[in-house]
This record gives sequence, C-alpha cells and structure tokens, in this order.
Amino acid sequence: MHEYTIVQSMLDLCEKHANGKEVTKLAVKIGKMSGIEPHFLRESFDVFKEDTLCHNATMEMELIDITIKCSDCQKEAMVDSFNFYCPYCGGGNTEVLTGQEMHIDYIEVKEA
Ligand SMILES: [Zn+2]
Repeated sequence: MHEYTIVQSMLDLCEKHANGKEVTKLAVKIGKMSGIEPHFLRESFDVFKEDTLCHNATMEMELIDITIKCSDCQKEAMVDSFNFYCPYCGGGNTEVLTGQEMHIDYIEVKEA
C-alpha cells in the first residue's frame, strides 16, 4: 500500500536526522489532495516504528488545505476538494498551489 512506502521513507529520514537519538515526536503535514489517508498513515506508522528510533514517537498530523490560483484573474482561493473553478470569476483556468504535498514538518528527539 501507498501509505506503507511513505511511512518507510519517513522512518528512514528520521533515522538520518535523529543521529542515533530516540525520536519522541514526528510532525507531518499532509495535503488534503495528496491521496494519503491520515488514519492509514498513523496505523502504518505504529506498525513500522517498532524496530526503529521512532518506537516511542508520537505522530502529529496537520492537514494542508487546497488552494488554487486563477490564471485569468490572478486571485488565489481556498477550495473544497476537487472543485477547481475560480470562485471569483468562475474560470477553470486554475493551478493548484497547495494541498498535493506531504512532508515532515519537524522531528523531536530525546536529549540524553
Ligand atoms: Zn478567476
């Protein structure tokens, strides 16, 4: 599953940044359009973290809203999922600015 792969690379990144220290918290940002199911991500994390420096870590998730920019009127707007028409001029000439991404915001490690 998609989420497993993501969790695996998240854990790899944590191991790199933690420098052998125990990770206590992992904060991630998830775009509402990223295709990631937050509860699957959390479940996968809980399964895979067992043998890693993250085994005691909690995961905090923040959802990123979808925003678009209209090429016709140059305005930016927040939209509901999958309605990409410009709310100002009604045009469909829009590009997605945020909401597709998923990244680690920060990690916290235990200072020995
Ligand atoms: Zn517009």
